[in-house]
Amino acid sequence: MINIKVPVGISSCLLGEPVRFDKGHKRDAYIVGTLSHYFYFRPFCPEMAIGLGEPRPTMHLIKKEDAVRCVVIKDPSHDVTDRLRDYAEQQHHPDLCGYIVKKDSPSCGMERVKVFTNDIPHRDGVGIYAEVMMRNHPLLPVEEEGRLGDAGLRENFIQRVYVLYR
Ligand code: SF4
Repeated sequence: MINIKVPVGISSCLLGEPVRFDKGHKRDAYIVGTLSHYFYFRPFCPEMAIGLGEPRPTMHLIKKEDAVRCVVIKDPSHDVTDRLRDYAEQQHHPDLCGYIVKKDSPSCGMERVKVFTNDIPHRDGVGIYAEVMMRNHPLLPVEEEGRLGDAGLRENFIQRVYVLYR
């Protein structure tokens, strides 16, 4: 039997690519060891794609005049929000059947990303890249690596990926 792999987008660091701010990665053993038998992963790192390089300063989300911005923690005047949004707007994924993003990331996080208001964090944000990507691809199943540890959420995600593929 030929095993045809389903194309799925993914945050590059989850595959073990050393693209994080500290030149590290967040290789996920279940994704790399198991899901990769069924999914053909197409990696995206929005922070590298907009030229931030590694190592790079750490960033977070802040709320400023009712708008959420992604800024360098040690220098909030360094604001990369528009560059991340522009990059996300340029990405079209007609062939992808799913997308796995890195939780808690100010760029890639799907939900519950920390947003700081006057230095107080609230877990109600969405990564800047992920927000645009999900808005532009409303039918694309999206999940975070952390939530894939839950059997019910994992099964639901895999089913939605295969439904879209078929
Ligand atoms: S979370 Fe997203 S932006 Fe951050 S290193 Fe991973 S792929 Fe790149």
